[in-house]
Amino acid sequence: MSEEPQLPPIPSLGDNIKKNMIEKKTSVLKCDNCGKKAKRPFEDGDFVFRKLSGKNCPKCSETKYTIIQVYGEWVKATRKERKNML
Ligand SMILES: [Zn+2]
Repeated sequence: MSEEPQLPPIPSLGDNIKKNMIEKKTSVLKCDNCGKKAKRPFEDGDFVFRKLSGKNCPKCSETKYTIIQVYGEWVKATRKERKNML
């Protein structure tokens, strides 16, 4: 029985970087009444020009918002977030 040493694959640097990074998406909302902008974490179904309601504007109490921007940024994952990805 011939046994060839099985070496674990060497992870490339690129993989390592990707593993520790997560894309955080943020939605930027604008109050339909006074134009005050607010940010909140991206939620499934968010898209630019989507109308939202149910969140009170801190400035004028209007409850209608429009998403004016959605952006993502790569950030280093926290230990907890890395655990969730496994
Ligand atoms: Zn407002």
